[in-house]
Amino acid sequence: MGMIIDGKKVALEVKEEIRNFVNMRKNNGLRVPSIVSILVGNDGGSVFYINNQEKIATSLGVDFKKLLLEENISEDHLINEIERLNNDDNVDGIILQLPLPKGMNEKKVINTISSYKDIDCLTYENQGKLYCGEKVFLPCTPNSVVTLLDKYEIKLEGKNVVVIGRSNIVGKPVAQLLLNKNATVTICHSRTKNLQEICKNADVIVVAIGRANYLNEDFVNENSIVIDVGTSSLNGKITGDVNFERVSDKVKMITPVPGGVGALTTTLLIKNSCEALENNEN
Ligand code: NAP
Repeated sequence: MGMIIDGKKVALEVKEEIRNFVNMRKNNGLRVPSIVSILVGNDGGSVFYINNQEKIATSLGVDFKKLLLEENISEDHLINEIERLNNDDNVDGIILQLPLPKGMNEKKVINTISSYKDIDCLTYENQGKLYCGEKVFLPCTPNSVVTLLDKYEIKLEGKNVVVIGRSNIVGKPVAQLLLNKNATVTICHSRTKNLQEICKNADVIVVAIGRANYLNEDFVNENSIVIDVGTSSLNGKITGDVNFERVSDKVKMITPVPGGVGALTTTLLIKNSCEALENNEN
């Protein structure tokens, strides 16, 4: 059996860092980080995410408010609300649950968020900075991938890393963060030829395609390190892109689903609010 990369364990470590930061602030009579998370309508997935954010943030002493807006509010109303939060010195981080209701110009709304408060790295400004290698709030899922690799002391410099998936939200930013760590990165997608062969020759495989159990033992070797970002629902169970049963004893290290990448993402999002608070004070 390959070593299991334990996202829950790493999340506990990061939570401790946040708790220490919050306590340090309180002990010095200073304000704690503050987040407003916006939900328009009541999309099931988004309701789950916002409640989870609230649970984690409040358990760590971070000030967390939900801004719940009716599904049928106008785009202008939403933009006004975001501008109000941008101008509120007591708000450090703004999270916008996506997708927005149909008919709204999502790009326009997202880019209304101040880059200083965009702790989810959604705005073009922050994404541009990310691709230029500048310091920026790291998007939480890609950050979870590199944080897990880092915490398990997996050196990336000069390593061959394959990222399967090229979405703006996972594949591309993951590839960029790995590149920033001096890995040699190959990005693969649905039109890639010889995917098995490319993966078999890689040191690290990051898979984010949304196809349950897709990656099997034919894609790996005994030294492979496999990071599974996928979360599909299969027979009512959250299932990764990797066939864990068939792959886990054929590789060096692997993340489970659940309990891997996804176990850390929201904690990293909350952690960005600590950085935002420090930035906003300087
Ligand atoms: P997405 O936008 O649907 O993108 C999927 C990508 O996978 C596309 O680039 C697609 O290629 C590629 N792809 C699909 N089938 C493929 C195949 N058979 N071989 C090679 N490449 C293939 O999905 P996403 O938003 O990036 O999400 C990916 C997965 O991560 C989903 O399961 C999602 O639920 C999960 N996720 C998890 C977290 C977390 O916190 N754990 C966060 C976000 C997303 P083309 O570009 O050629 O179409």
